Amino acid sequence: MNLKLLIKKNVQLSRCPNCNTIASLRRSRSRNITEKILKKMKVSPYFCQSCGWRGRLLTYKLSRNFFKLIILYVFLMLATAYIVLKFLRSYFD
Ligand SMILES: [Zn+2]
Repeated sequence: MNLKLLIKKNVQLSRCPNCNTIASLRRSRSRNITEKILKKMKVSPYFCQSCGWRGRLLTYKLSRNFFKLIILYVFLMLATAYIVLKFLRSYFD
């Protein structure tokens, strides 16, 4: 099972949100500080070669078993917390 919560998607092969053309998106340079910060957060600016659309797209998408993994991680967290609590109680009593 793939344990990654987020999967990097190939934006260059996805559709333009404006004109719906496939594989027309290219990465655009960050023009200001806001875009540079957003780029660090994996929200990169892109532009469309066929219609000139320019905007930001998330380069990551949720993995197929995202919710299963979230439940698994929450369960593991609670189990760990329970074990630590049990241990601390027996240690200090
Ligand atoms: Zn376009």
